[in-house]
Amino acid sequence: MNMSDLNTTLNRLYDTAVPDRNDIVSLLSISDADELKQLFTFADHVRKQHVGDGVLLRGIVEFSNFCGNNCAYCGLKKDNTTINRYRLSVDEILQSIGQIYSSSIRTVVLQSGEEHSIDAEWMAKLLKKIKSRFDIAVTLSVGERSYEDYELWRKAGADRYLLKIETTDKQLYNSLHPDMSFEKRIDCLRTIKQLGYQSGTGCIVGLKGQTIETLANDIMFFAAEQFDMLGIGPFIPHQDTPLKDDDPGELDMILKTLAVTRIVTKDTHMPATTAIGSLNSGDERLKALQCGANVMMPNYTPQPYKKDYEIYPGKRCIDEPSGACANCMEQMAQSIGRYIDYSRGDSLKTSSATTIQ
Ligand code: SAH
Repeated sequence: MNMSDLNTTLNRLYDTAVPDRNDIVSLLSISDADELKQLFTFADHVRKQHVGDGVLLRGIVEFSNFCGNNCAYCGLKKDNTTINRYRLSVDEILQSIGQIYSSSIRTVVLQSGEEHSIDAEWMAKLLKKIKSRFDIAVTLSVGERSYEDYELWRKAGADRYLLKIETTDKQLYNSLHPDMSFEKRIDCLRTIKQLGYQSGTGCIVGLKGQTIETLANDIMFFAAEQFDMLGIGPFIPHQDTPLKDDDPGELDMILKTLAVTRIVTKDTHMPATTAIGSLNSGDERLKALQCGANVMMPNYTPQPYKKDYEIYPGKRCIDEPSGACANCMEQMAQSIGRYIDYSRGDSLKTSSATTIQ
């Protein structure tokens, strides 16, 4: 593509309500350094215009690594007997949230493996306690549950829910997720939206069998459904999974996916994911923040558990005390002319599609 064609494609994609899949494919196919720069700069402008220069912080507490699923890529998979399983007590969770709150962060993300034994009432009580003690937004990321559980937790005060579709290629999805189903995942996302959660999904970039067309379909899905949050990160092979010998996701492909997603979805909250930061020895999250991302997720999982939440290896900063990240993120933001926004960072979407086709 020459530079003026590229400019036309970028503007067309930005201006049309329903993106043309061919435009997305052609942008994801770019490899020339100048063209990449043009794409990333365009996405950075869209980010600035629609979500501003503030970088939102979400403090994450990985409260349990028990999991009943066997996702082929994930180190927490049920059959991995090499990791030390842990579950934080209510007091430990509240203490971590206290630390998040004292750092002036106003969103906590409670994440865990898909622990079928998490009692819905236990979680509801925890949510009520959090909400009575702290003026903080709560995001849950605990996998697939029944309509009743999602409803109970929403009523107990949960504000947001993250459930990544991982890939919209149904065949690939089903091959990576034994005993799970693509339809069920979509169903859960539909319920999450219906119940009025601010909803987040996302995909893993670099899975074997994934193509540019597959990724373009993921982005079409994100655009059609107007999720409030989208997490896009690289596949990182884990030594104790069947995918241990696969190559990790390529940085440029991740950045292109982020950039195009920003251009088509405009005001979505998108993290520079920890997985992007863990990809190379340098911290590539700075690049992500400069091609569409506007969120970072400092880790407040207490020691000694941090290292045991090993969804992928080489996770950044796992030896640090919990809460060490916030200062570092201030510096990162400043180094690229941005600032940390300590507000709750609620959705900027004015209307969201509530029915998933
Ligand atoms: N159990 C919850 C979330 C926990 S894992 C759920 O099912 O929603 C959070 C995310 O980690 C997953 O959605 C997946 O996208 C990501 N992940 C897991 N293993 C990974 C790997 N090896 N490389 C990159 N991302 C991975």
